[in-house]
Amino acid sequence: MDTLIISVSGVRGIVGESFHPNLLARFGTAFGTFIKAGKVVLGRDSRPSGEMAWHALLSGLIATGCEVVDLGICPTPTILLRAKDLSAGGSITITASHNPIEWNGIEFAASCGSLLTPEQSAELINIYENYKDKLMPHDKLGSVKQDDTAVERHISKILNLPYIDVELIKNRRLKVVIDCCNGAGSVISPKLLRELGCEVIELGCQPDGKFPRHPEPVPEHLSQLCEIVRAQNADIGFAHDGDADRLAIVSDKAEAISNEYTLVLASDFILSKRKGPVVATSSTSMMMDYIAQKHGVPLYRTKVGVGNVVQKMQKVNAVIGGEGTGGVIFPEIHYTTDGMTALAVIIQQLAESKATISELVSEIPQYSIIKKKIEIPTQEIADALTHKAAQYYANENINLTDGVKIIRKDSWVNIRKSGTEPVIRVFSEAKTTEEAERLCDSTMEMIKSWMRA
Ligand code: MG
Repeated sequence: MDTLIISVSGVRGIVGESFHPNLLARFGTAFGTFIKAGKVVLGRDSRPSGEMAWHALLSGLIATGCEVVDLGICPTPTILLRAKDLSAGGSITITASHNPIEWNGIEFAASCGSLLTPEQSAELINIYENYKDKLMPHDKLGSVKQDDTAVERHISKILNLPYIDVELIKNRRLKVVIDCCNGAGSVISPKLLRELGCEVIELGCQPDGKFPRHPEPVPEHLSQLCEIVRAQNADIGFAHDGDADRLAIVSDKAEAISNEYTLVLASDFILSKRKGPVVATSSTSMMMDYIAQKHGVPLYRTKVGVGNVVQKMQKVNAVIGGEGTGGVIFPEIHYTTDGMTALAVIIQQLAESKATISELVSEIPQYSIIKKKIEIPTQEIADALTHKAAQYYANENINLTDGVKIIRKDSWVNIRKSGTEPVIRVFSEAKTTEEAERLCDSTMEMIKSWMRA
């Protein structure tokens, strides 16, 4: 199986197989050519394979005359923020985010830390595929210098947000457990929590890339965090993925709550300070509809992918946006998912509300999301089945933003072809897990019967 995935957001592959240094060096020269030999911010998550990728990319960037600012091990949002502050021509983050340890990847950003548009991505891949890179002569090669200020700068930017009140948080004397999975958030998040005035208990906060759990911070991977929250009688637990752009929450009752709540709670808080449009992906929870209605603001839905959310947020001047994966975008800091700002916002909300996190959660109408997939022989068959679904459900309230989403009262089901593997994803949401499960299963049965026909 070919494990190399080249998409709008970057490249991912398996170390020792498809994630080859030749490919990385060539992406280095392609990117250096794409940004016309400007300033590039380079950083990586804590995976041990990051060093190999770093050397290969660096070689390509220097060969094309780039002035590389190296941040070392650093969260993705921190790298993008530094690129913005330095007005860099672009940035490269070496990370496979929430993928298992055998994976690594590279994510590109264009000028000032903004994610590549599909057009920019196509231009970069064109340079790469057609060897259109422009190498510099011996006297015009690039350079590299280290910069160890990015974490401090990110923290101070968060602490300076108008609605963060450190004195107030200190007075609440919150006890917080933070689980960084020994990933890129291992230094910044415990430090940020301490500067916010919390008592901090660290779990997996050595940035050595030895992941003690699966790096995707979904409830089923957070049992150890739950145990420690319970044993320490903590007010809240937080977990990041490998590059710390996502945030998951464990309640004071030691329950890992759905990742959907990170965006929901953060939106509720931000909208209480500042009214404006919100943006979420098509498969993000209906809880976001409730939050938007509660504050009387419009909610816009986009296709999955941070890039799509960002584009829409900029267009409608949204005050917050994100995905149900625990990735939240705060435009006051920058246009990318930021696990650290999300953490500070949730802490401020907790301190201000004088409630517990489980009380805050119980004030929001509950829904349950089920996510399943069906293996499909080819992308063409997947296209045909999606088309068939659009026809079959044509008389219902459907939305075609991302695949076919059938919206009913208090429930929906979304049928969507995957961009990266030969599968159709079927997501459903309803008031209870049983109901969501039933809806998902019956839809899958329907699709399978079309495949047999
Ligand atoms: Mg990530």
